[in-house]
Amino acid sequence: MDKARIHETLRRLRAEFPLQARMEIAPEQAQEVYAEILGAWVTEGRAPQENRFPPDIVQYLVGLDAIAKSSQGLACYPFSIKNTGIEVHWGHSTVAAMCAIDALAIPALARSPTTIHAACAHCGQAVEASVGELPPRAIIALPDRCFVYYGTPVNLSGKGCCDGLCTGIVFLCASCADPTALPVLAMDEAVAVAEDFFAFQMNLLTIHT
Ligand SMILES: [Zn+2]
Ligand SMILES: [Zn+2]
Repeated sequence: MDKARIHETLRRLRAEFPLQARMEIAPEQAQEVYAEILGAWVTEGRAPQENRFPPDIVQYLVGLDAIAKSSQGLACYPFSIKNTGIEVHWGHSTVAAMCAIDALAIPALARSPTTIHAACAHCGQAVEASVGELPPRAIIALPDRCFVYYGTPVNLSGKGCCDGLCTGIVFLCASCADPTALPVLAMDEAVAVAEDFFAFQMNLLTIHT
């Protein structure tokens, strides 16, 4: 596990998507509703409907790109409403994650062993990863090893992070990944990045739900 690589990836991710910084300065009431939306995903394993929450706060959170609206309910990073090709299973729930790093944040949020099904973004080979419930999280990847590639975001202006940044954060199979390239993370490194990036959500859930 390369600490410098984890640190550099976190720095880049927080610069390109300052979700934590935005939520920390959001009004208390918005933080509370955000925690309720997130908590609904974690406990119900699916998107909560918009009409459960105050419309003005939902709109405010959409403006921050902390959540995304659709006819099927509210998406909330790391949980997606669209089919992203990254499926995450725990307990009786199956959800789509916004991206590969987001998928690896879900075991900590769900407090459950979790299995991820995705495909190598380069060759399409199926990849599967099982992540243990407690740190240090045991990671079993099939076929043998897989990696996370953090690509360059495409023109983010006016788009949600999920449409410009997350689309480039993908899984690669061992034959397609060059593990020495900086934007390529080993699975344990990607889990460390994911948990640190989303750690503020655990705090919000503890305080507000
Ligand atoms: Zn591949
Ligand atoms: Zn993402």
